[in-house]
Amino acid sequence: MSPALPDDAPPTHDLIGIGFGPSNVAMAIALSEHNARVGRQEAVTAHFFERQPRFGWHRGMLIDDATMQVSFLKDLVTLRNPSSEFSFLCYLQSKGRLVDFVNGKSLFPLRVEFHDYFEWAAAQVDDMVSYGHEVVAVRPVVRDGVVEYVDVTARSGQETVVHRARNLVVGTGLRPRMPDGVERTERIWHNSELLSKVDALDESEPSRFVVVGAGQSAAENVAFLRRRFPNAEVCAVFSRYGYSPADDSSFANRIFDPDAVDDYFTAPDEIKRKLMDYHGNTNYAVVDIDLIDDLYRQAYREKVLGSERLRFLNVSRLTDVVETPDKVRATVESLVTGERTPLDADVVVYATGYQSADALGILGEVGERCHRDDQGRVRVGRDYRLATDAELRCGIYLQGGTEHTHGITSSLLSNTAVRVGEILDSIVERGQQPASSQPRLAADEISTAL
Ligand SMILES: Cc1cc2nc3c(=O)[nH]c(=O)nc-3n(C[C@H](O)[C@H](O)[C@H](O)COP(=O)(O)OP(=O)(O)OC[C@H]3O[C@@H](n4cnc5c(N)ncnc54)[C@H](O)[C@@H]3O)c2cc1C
Repeated sequence: MSPALPDDAPPTHDLIGIGFGPSNVAMAIALSEHNARVGRQEAVTAHFFERQPRFGWHRGMLIDDATMQVSFLKDLVTLRNPSSEFSFLCYLQSKGRLVDFVNGKSLFPLRVEFHDYFEWAAAQVDDMVSYGHEVVAVRPVVRDGVVEYVDVTARSGQETVVHRARNLVVGTGLRPRMPDGVERTERIWHNSELLSKVDALDESEPSRFVVVGAGQSAAENVAFLRRRFPNAEVCAVFSRYGYSPADDSSFANRIFDPDAVDDYFTAPDEIKRKLMDYHGNTNYAVVDIDLIDDLYRQAYREKVLGSERLRFLNVSRLTDVVETPDKVRATVESLVTGERTPLDADVVVYATGYQSADALGILGEVGERCHRDDQGRVRVGRDYRLATDAELRCGIYLQGGTEHTHGITSSLLSNTAVRVGEILDSIVERGQQPASSQPRLAADEISTAL
């Protein structure tokens, strides 16, 4: 699809993807399936940059018994193309485990297994990706006052490379969130680094961990640390009364449907807010009921046996976390009485969630040409394309960071397969028109939340 450019132009693609997590792996697969269907003339050319040295999906949380929170049928392809060769079922077949998996009668594979599936899928499209390349700049290529291309600079060690594209798909994922003023150290962790840090503790025989938070990651950390360190006490500190179960019932689960994206996108602001309030408990600050039950059973058993290692400090918060050479001294404040109790620990783990990376941050000058609403949120079309100044004719698409316009699936896997198909359709459709006549987002194509 790319028109001819001068010989000295950087390598030029129809699309550059920033990040190669599940979202952009799915994008690469959708592209390769599209290109296999159409002739060479209509093929969409693409390149992806990933800063990690190889594919990795939340490696720090690949706890061996943790399971997926989404059906395996919501893999990278199936909801878009049920006959795709990149499905989880094809992966199982290739590993010789299809029948064994079916006999297990579960929709929810182990997280380590889904990671292996992602790696298997990513490996089949890795001719399109440069690993170990962090995108550090995006610059507009201005000709006659208009921008039809952007130059993307990626750094790998001391080297930088520049590639040019007519479309960008930003899939840079989530960033760990720490409470204001709390820095990560060797003894103060975010749960995202659990497995990369924990081995170093084996020699030191830790006696106490504090885990802050009441969501799925927090509960998983509590269960894991208790199991891994049989002599250590694990204190869970959270402001709730107890862990709350994730609502994964069938009707509520429809909030993750592809159609729900249309409804959410069209709904007025107030209804968007209500939908999030009603159904936030399908995903946020909630825990799988099986894990809640397990933790409760363990705590009760410890009580009966008189050897309590699990402590739940509920309706509480952690204040004054101070690191000493061999400990962390924290203070637990009861939100009921205000009483403050000192607590020495080997490690404090903050399981305090994640936030989307600011997509515009990475876009630099190009980001300044993208429109924001009066709350500073990016304005996005239904096809996930950012609304921009008229002179910016290239497409900038977001995978993630669109919860305010497209709803709860924005940063989840549930809708990834369908979303990448929609982005690809938009790119193909726009590519078939001369750039100068391409439509800008009409008012009714921009979410009413904006
Ligand atoms: C522990 C955990 C478990 C989860 N489990 C589920 C689940 O079961 N079901 C579900 O639906 N969701 C789950 N999620 C939500 C999660 O957001 C998605 O699973 C998924 O990671 C989204 O994929 P992504 O590609 O958009 O983002 P990511 O997986 O975060 O990938 C983004 C990639 O971009 C790369 N990157 C970032 N900046 C740059 C840059 N400047 N240059 C180059 N590369 C860059 C990163 O290195 C990363 O590889 C889970 C999240 C966590 C933390």
